[in-house]
Amino acid sequence: MTKARTEADREQSAIRNYPQLLRRYARLLEVTYNLASTFDLTTLLGHVVEAAQELTECEGTSLLLYDPKTHHLHFEAATNVLVESLDRIVVPTDNSIAGWVFIHGEPLNVHEALSDARFFREVDVLTRFQTRSVLGVPLRTKHKTIGVLEAVNKRIGVFTDEDVRLLQALGAQAAIAIENSRLFQQSDLVAEMVHELRTPLSALTAAAYLLRRPDLPVDQRHKLSETVYGEVVRLNEMATDFLELARLESGRGKFVREPIHLGGLVRECMEIIRPQAETEGVVLEAGTDPPLAPVQGDRNRLKQVLLNLLTNSVKYNVRGGHVRIDLRSEGPDVIIDVSDTGRGIPAESVPHIFERFYRVPDPEGHIGGTGLGLVIAKRIVEGLQGTLSVVSDVGSGSTFSIRLPAAPSGGADTRPIR
Ligand code: ADP
Repeated sequence: MTKARTEADREQSAIRNYPQLLRRYARLLEVTYNLASTFDLTTLLGHVVEAAQELTECEGTSLLLYDPKTHHLHFEAATNVLVESLDRIVVPTDNSIAGWVFIHGEPLNVHEALSDARFFREVDVLTRFQTRSVLGVPLRTKHKTIGVLEAVNKRIGVFTDEDVRLLQALGAQAAIAIENSRLFQQSDLVAEMVHELRTPLSALTAAAYLLRRPDLPVDQRHKLSETVYGEVVRLNEMATDFLELARLESGRGKFVREPIHLGGLVRECMEIIRPQAETEGVVLEAGTDPPLAPVQGDRNRLKQVLLNLLTNSVKYNVRGGHVRIDLRSEGPDVIIDVSDTGRGIPAESVPHIFERFYRVPDPEGHIGGTGLGLVIAKRIVEGLQGTLSVVSDVGSGSTFSIRLPAAPSGGADTRPIR
C-alpha cells in the first residue's frame, strides 16, 4: 500500500468515526455541566469516576488524591472495586503508575501494565482484579497537581490517543470542581460566588475546547458559538451582581439621603422598562399615584430596586400579562406595590426567594438570571430603613411591596448601610 493510500485510508476511517467521536465529546460537555453543579465532594468524585469509565469504555476507573501531609496518593473513589477495600492502601508517588503521572503532571498510557516496572501490584493482589492496560491523567488545577484519574483495561484493544485527550479534558474539569468543592466547604460569600461561576466556566471551557477542532461541522460550530456568547453574557451579569452584593454585605455601600418624589421616579422606571415589556408582550399599566410627600433616601438605589422588581415581573410573566406599580400611604409609611399577573411563585419557594443564589426550579430553564437580584434589592431597601416583602399565587401573579418610612430622621448625609 502506498503512503498516500494509507493516509487516505486513515482520513476515511477518521471521517467514519466522526459521529461516534462527536457523541463522546457531547457526553463530556454534559458531564462537565453536572460536575459544576455538584459540590458535595463524595458525590462529585463518584460522578467523575463513573463519567471516566463511560467516556473511555473501560472496565474500571479510580481517582486518587494527594495528601500533602503523608506525601502519598490515596484512593478516594473507584467504579470497579469498593473504595473501602482500598482504604488502607497508600500509593507511593515514586513507585507506581499513578505516582509517575502525579510527579510528571502528564498522562501515561500503558498498554501492558504487568511488564511495566512502575506498575504497583498491591492493588491487584488485594482486590483480585487483573490489570492489563492503564491510562492515567493528572488532576491539575492552575497552580498544582492534586491527584490522578486512572482508567483500567480498555474493553476492546488498548487506550487510544482520543481516550487520552478525553480523560485529560475530564481530569481538568474534575480538578477545578474538586478544588471548588473544597473551597465551598469554607462556605463564605466568596466561596459561594466561585461555586456559581463554575457552571458558566465549565460550559465555556468545554465549548472552547471543541471549537478548536478544525473539522467541526458548521452547525455544531454555530451552536457552540451561541453557547459561548450566552455564557459570557451570564458571567458579565454575575460579575456585576457579585460586586454589588459584596459591597453591600461588607458595609461599603454608601447611601445618600435626598428627597425622592416617588411618582416621578415610578414613571421614569416604567419608561425604562417599556421596550423590554413590549418585546415580551407584557402590558405596563398606570397604577394609583396619590399625592405623597417626598421620602428621604438614595434615589439611584431605590431606582435600582424598582428596575429589578419590574424586570422580574416582566421576565417571569406570560404574553398578554400585566404589570403595574401602585403607590399608597399606610400610617407613617409609604408603600410601593409592584404587581404582575405572571406565573407566580410556589408557596414552598416563597420563603427562599430572598436567599443568595436561590432560583425557583424551572423545568424549561429558559429564563436567565443570577439569583442575586432580590437579595440585593432587599439589602438596599433595608439600607433605606424599609422592608421588602412578597405575596404570590401560582398562576395568578405576584406583588412585591416596598415599605419605606415617610420621613426618616436626619438630613442629607452619606453613610454605609450597616
Ligand atoms: P434572578 O436573577 O433569577 O431573576 P432574583 O433574585 O431576581 O434572581 O429572583 C429570584 C427568583 O425568584 C427568580 O429566579 C424567580 O424564580 C423568582 N421570581 C422573582 N420575581 C418573580 C416574579 N415577579 N414572578 C415570579 N417569580 C419571580
